[in-house]
Amino acid sequence: MKLDLTDPLFLKAIPVLKELESHGYEAYFVGGCVRDSLLNKGISDIDIATSAFPEEVQSIFPKHFDVGLEHGTVVVLFHGESYEITTFRTESTYSDYRRPDQVSFVRDLVEDTKRRDFTINAMALDARGVLFDYHDGLKDLEDQKIRAVGQAHDRFQEDALRMMRAIRFASQLGFELESQTYIAIQALSKNLAYISIERIRIEFEKTMLGRHFNCCLPLIKESHLLDHFPLYNGQRYCLGMDALANEISDLKDYSIVQAWAFLLRGMELSESSDRQNLLKKWTLSNQRINQIQEYYQLIVNVENGAIQPIDLYSFSSQSIELLEDYLIAKEQKSLAALIRDHFDSLAIHDRKELALNGSDIMQILDMHHGGPLIGQILDYLETQVIKNNLRNDRLILEKAVQDYSKSYNDS
Ligand code: ATP
Ligand code: MG
Repeated sequence: MKLDLTDPLFLKAIPVLKELESHGYEAYFVGGCVRDSLLNKGISDIDIATSAFPEEVQSIFPKHFDVGLEHGTVVVLFHGESYEITTFRTESTYSDYRRPDQVSFVRDLVEDTKRRDFTINAMALDARGVLFDYHDGLKDLEDQKIRAVGQAHDRFQEDALRMMRAIRFASQLGFELESQTYIAIQALSKNLAYISIERIRIEFEKTMLGRHFNCCLPLIKESHLLDHFPLYNGQRYCLGMDALANEISDLKDYSIVQAWAFLLRGMELSESSDRQNLLKKWTLSNQRINQIQEYYQLIVNVENGAIQPIDLYSFSSQSIELLEDYLIAKEQKSLAALIRDHFDSLAIHDRKELALNGSDIMQILDMHHGGPLIGQILDYLETQVIKNNLRNDRLILEKAVQDYSKSYNDS
């Protein structure tokens, strides 16, 4: 079969394949970019596989970085773009359920495709658009099936992360899992314990954001993979996933922050410290954890009707924006507008915006070192400004500081 390579990313990269060919090697586009172009989806990045060994690739492309050399990957710079070029390889036995004990470079494309995870990811495309499909990936693409290359049981036994990848692709593409592939996942789900949580998270986040998450939820729940997620049992995660599915059902778009917040809400983690522990365990960054915690608190506030300006003070404009989009999608436009008005009506959105800071207060009171009083005064000014009892104006606040200090000294 021959395809028209019209995507600009392909067009730009064809000379890279041709360069390798002109030195007598084979070179192909492989993996996700082939799959996505056959699905008529835009491609986001390109992977190239070649019969040239890494040192041969290096000598053809003088500008290169050796980032994944032990796996046969050389990143080359070509006409200002960088490309990952990976030598065809086979993988030996896996004794730790996650990494091959050894990889060997080979000259044969067929051998390289056998180590790939799913048939739809194991196709190769050459510079002329000829498709090489040794595992019936095209048929599975048409039948909308995710099928392991070779014996599913063996392939998941080798690398347990592939099970997470299977549900990730199901959620992104809306495909079914072919029955042997699915049975193997159910049988081997416990091997997920050998995989680092960070790698699981990357696939899990893509699963939560998949366009077809809702349709493949029953599959995910019955896969038993959730039983091996951190800290809580599978049942608890199932509740979380149900809540997530329910929340996103009318949304065209949602962020990973919202996805986590909806999940946690469904898992009934009402204590902030429990959420914190779980999110830490999932290896999320502190910044991401704070965003999720904040959004979680915001939806709880809204549920409890706590939407006065003062209730919204501690939230960032990003969280308010996410909430607004969410409420509009849920046909609660007037509530969205009310919350937006209340938020915008706040004189300040952060203590840093106060017309006075701690050192100003020390100067006004002629103090030479700080102390608890400064914090108290700042708290007081902040509250009064948010409540509109004081205007955020330097002179007005100066006077308030003096009054506060006087009554403090009198008492
Ligand atoms: P995406 O569009 O999300 O990047 P992708 O299919 O390109 O999807 P990658 O994780 O970028 O996924 O991997 C590129 C290719 O490498 C896959 O298409 C697959 O052929 C192969 N691959 C990746 N991870 C594995 C794995 N754990 N086991 C076997 N093959 C894998
Ligand atoms: Mg990719």
